[in-house]
Amino acid sequence: MTKTTAIYAPSPDDARRILDEIEDQFRLPKEDLMRITSQFLEDFALGLSEYNHPMAMIPTFVTGVPDGSETGTFLALDLGGTNLRVCEVELLGNHEFVLRQQKYKVSDALKTGEATTLFDYLADSVDAFLTEFASAVPSSPSFEQPNPFGSPTLSEEPAVPLGLTFSFPVEQTALDQGKILTWTKGFAAKNAVGNDVVKLLQDAFDRKHLHVKCVALVNDTVGALLSRAYTGGSCVLGAIFGTGTNGAYVERVENIKKLGDSPARQRGGHMIVNAEWGAFNNTRTVLPTTPYDNKVDRQSINPRLQGFEKFISGMYLGEILRNMLISLVDAAPKPLLFNGRSSGPLNTHYGLDTAVMSEIEDAWETGRVPVVPVLDSDAAKSNTNGIAAEELASVPDWQSAFFTEVDKLSPDDKARLERVQGIIVQRLALDPADVSLHDAAVVRWATSLVANRAARLSGCAVAAVLVQTERAKLGGGFATDEEKICVGVDGSLIQHYPNFNARLRESLRELVGDEVEAKVEIGLAKDGSGVGAALCALQAIKQGH
Ligand code: BGC
Ligand code: MG
Repeated sequence: MTKTTAIYAPSPDDARRILDEIEDQFRLPKEDLMRITSQFLEDFALGLSEYNHPMAMIPTFVTGVPDGSETGTFLALDLGGTNLRVCEVELLGNHEFVLRQQKYKVSDALKTGEATTLFDYLADSVDAFLTEFASAVPSSPSFEQPNPFGSPTLSEEPAVPLGLTFSFPVEQTALDQGKILTWTKGFAAKNAVGNDVVKLLQDAFDRKHLHVKCVALVNDTVGALLSRAYTGGSCVLGAIFGTGTNGAYVERVENIKKLGDSPARQRGGHMIVNAEWGAFNNTRTVLPTTPYDNKVDRQSINPRLQGFEKFISGMYLGEILRNMLISLVDAAPKPLLFNGRSSGPLNTHYGLDTAVMSEIEDAWETGRVPVVPVLDSDAAKSNTNGIAAEELASVPDWQSAFFTEVDKLSPDDKARLERVQGIIVQRLALDPADVSLHDAAVVRWATSLVANRAARLSGCAVAAVLVQTERAKLGGGFATDEEKICVGVDGSLIQHYPNFNARLRESLRELVGDEVEAKVEIGLAKDGSGVGAALCALQAIKQGH
């Protein structure tokens, strides 16, 4: 037998080169952020002037923003995130509300089967909820709604008004009317696109003889905006950073040119516009793109659609990271991770949940800084340890972690890496012998690269809305007279992902300057989908629908 000698002796330089390249691809300097935000503004303008633009800029026919004095009890149905929710919302009229809700699972079979089956399931869930929570039935004393649907005959109770939060692109034609433009976030139910979503739902209620009437249709971003205005008194932008991403904001009707001479346009004033910014970059030419992103898109259920969402949202971040980790496992001539071993989760499409990334960053942060209340803007600026926002938002480069001799690590750093190592072993089902502390450092670095890019890009979308509504100038140097600019947000990333908000704010600061950024108050739109749907149902009833 001839003795084999390594033809190629792997050196740290190979690793350096590979990791350097990856880091470069994820870098988003200020010039890039500026360019991307300018493109956002151009797309906003296009979407406001013509129909069928990817940035749909959907007029919602919601022309007012609540002030917190609204009252009434409504049913709300929320479809579009990870769960389906049915809620009963009681608006108390003092910025407060009472909400009771029930969550139901939506299986992949329902997401991709026949639309009627999906909508039957929605109706069944409402039925189950009504059976369980009797107070939602109008005959209950707590229900004091004027009957919005004409006078009931003596034998007939008024139908229960329901607001539908439907978190997909829908071309609305009225508060209670709109055609589904496309599915997103892994939904693909057949025979739905092109149909009126309110009718699909109402038909299902009618098939089941449910005494419920869907009176209003609302996107979750619009719900976030309305509910934040209800609880906080004002709000200019509602944004979701969760399974998907999108934003809705208050626009001058005059600017919604595609409404032409319609009565809505002639009335003037303001209207909430649902931007559907998840479809930004559908050309896939605007954002710096990595091979990992291309793979995510190519293998997705909706290739070449939601070109922004696929860089930002919870549905995809874990998958981007999985692709990157696999490429490091496969690196030649020498694997750069896990001794070149893989595992079930690592080899499975969507096998790495974004929640695992959140755990990894959390494990890393614990001990370094007190856990920052994610949405408290003061805390995000400087927490009690006096750590500045810039540092919270910073992502360590790989050199610092990867080439540190393990025995030279401080006990604190070592403990943090060990926590990360534990999570990797457990969540990726790897053999502990294949996960070194160096591996843990690389995975943590990779995780924060993906998440940091997402948060910085999210900052572009928020900045674009502030510029569009003349509250800021791109590049800074202009501050509005307003004391504060309220943004209502919801979604798993912004709520739970460590430092997502701090990183987003950092990007926003680079884009619109310190002065304006300091006025931006990003607050949770608590139960935005439920409360927003209720507020919309109320508006529909007032308008006599
Ligand atoms: C949908 C939007 C929705 C967003 C957040 C996107 O995929 O297109 O309508 O607002 O997800 O849920
Ligand atoms: Mg949701």
